Amino acid sequence: MIPGLMQQTPLQVIDILKFAARAHGGVEVVSRLVDEPIVRSTYAGELRRTERAAKALQRLGVRAGDRVATLAWNTLRHFELFYAVPGLGAILNTVNPRLFDEQITYILNHAEAGVLFFDKSFLALVERLAPKLETVKTFVMLSDESAHEPGAVGAQCYERLLAQESDGFVWPTLDENAGAMLCYTSGTTGEPKGVLYSHRGIVLHAIASGLNSAFGFDAFDVVMPCSSLFHASAWGLPFAAPINGCKLVLPCEKMDGAHLQELILNEGVTFTGGVPTIWTMYLAHLEQTGGNAGKLKRVVIGGSAVPRAMAETFKRKYGVQVLQIWGMTETAPLGVIATPTPALAALGEDKLDEAIWTRQGRLQFGIELKVVDENGAEAPHDGETSGALMVRGPWTIQRYFRGERDVVDADGWFDTGDIATIDQFGFMRITDRKKDVIKSGGEWISSIDLENVAVACPGVKIAAVVGVPHPKWEERPIMLIEAHEGAELSEQQVLAYLAPRIVKWWTPDRVLFGLVPLTATGKINKKAIRDAYGQVLMGA
Ligand code: ADP
Repeated sequence: MIPGLMQQTPLQVIDILKFAARAHGGVEVVSRLVDEPIVRSTYAGELRRTERAAKALQRLGVRAGDRVATLAWNTLRHFELFYAVPGLGAILNTVNPRLFDEQITYILNHAEAGVLFFDKSFLALVERLAPKLETVKTFVMLSDESAHEPGAVGAQCYERLLAQESDGFVWPTLDENAGAMLCYTSGTTGEPKGVLYSHRGIVLHAIASGLNSAFGFDAFDVVMPCSSLFHASAWGLPFAAPINGCKLVLPCEKMDGAHLQELILNEGVTFTGGVPTIWTMYLAHLEQTGGNAGKLKRVVIGGSAVPRAMAETFKRKYGVQVLQIWGMTETAPLGVIATPTPALAALGEDKLDEAIWTRQGRLQFGIELKVVDENGAEAPHDGETSGALMVRGPWTIQRYFRGERDVVDADGWFDTGDIATIDQFGFMRITDRKKDVIKSGGEWISSIDLENVAVACPGVKIAAVVGVPHPKWEERPIMLIEAHEGAELSEQQVLAYLAPRIVKWWTPDRVLFGLVPLTATGKINKKAIRDAYGQVLMGA
């Protein structure tokens, strides 16, 4: 080999913020906070606060490789820790506060976190968990002096810690393959599993996600992440926004329609993203108030399948383009994004819309995808043949944190647990989670497709389809519907709506009404539905 003669500058997370401070220093970072007024900062200001945070972390005894945990919303203080902790060479462990107490305790003990930063909303939770936390020695509340409460854990005050330090910090040079962020999967089956993102993976992901084939950012964009910073780093937006010089707007936990609308209008938000349930609430708010979406141009939606009706309403009523995204904690999390291509555009606007509204997204540089059959043979890109979705690339998992073996095959492919197809245009479509597939009389029924049709039925807020045991057909689909407030819906009405839109044998054997349970990451909790309604057809 003749070595290349270019510099081997390691890719480091902190360099993203240093760049933003230098190149876009005056661009704003605006944030809601818990029980405090909205604050406004800039990338230059954020670098200075991050330098102080790094010094404070050192003073608290944090060293390279140590785990520093957070239980925190989408705020500027949390954003600062996204840079200060990895910047020091330590590892930021963002924990999902919506998990059960036992799961949060498990994660903090498994990660061996020494310091825990938390928002005031979680004081009672932290007090409750503290006796079971084996390694956390220091608690810091992400608050101002005026809002601070030490509680039973004797928490320190974040703003006081920052005030005690001075600007400026000499950031260490790190190995780009060092761990930077540790995110746990929600563990709906089994214990949560830790995915440790490297500096290199995060930086490459941040560059790739801004590409035109993906989020398509430019310096005029105003980005508001409404996916949680604690869930797979809010799709990397806290990194992708500064790298592109975009203004950043952080909504804290206030993700209801009215609060989001206020920020969208007042801050000129052009780009936002989150799970479908947030946008159901937002669209309902616009409908009720007769409002418009201001300067909003694109909404990226993922985490679970985007109902076609949602994408259509955004475009036709509000002129907003929906970009569906698929990813998972194990892919840091970007996998595919549904953006137009000339080949699809040539088929006409209707065909283009159809394709990008009903597919999870198209192949992106940096993450390879393939669909394989039971024997591991690759399926053709025909949009029909479904199989296990496998991925690999520089921001795909190799091994879980503290795991004993790799979770990829000899060629580096990771089995996502999803069932998918890929079409001739390179668009991938998820038909189901492997554990949620419905097999009726030997044939597959896609629960996601059925839900997508049902959710467009007037009055339906959420539709969930699961397969339950059936005496004759092994399994048949049943549908659980959560209706919009005040909507009167009957089983007959829903079935009449579905009839012309689906093949007959996909018709759910029962349509039930009630609250659809959601997981801590906002997905339909199909296991809970199967547990509750698993036997409804056994008398059939
Ligand atoms: P959790 O911790 O809840 O598992 P993840 O974000 O890691 O959270 O979940 C990833 C899974 O979410 C994917 O494997 C897939 O099943 C599902 N998912 C993500 N985006 C989509 C989408 N656009 N359509 C359908 N399913 C999706």
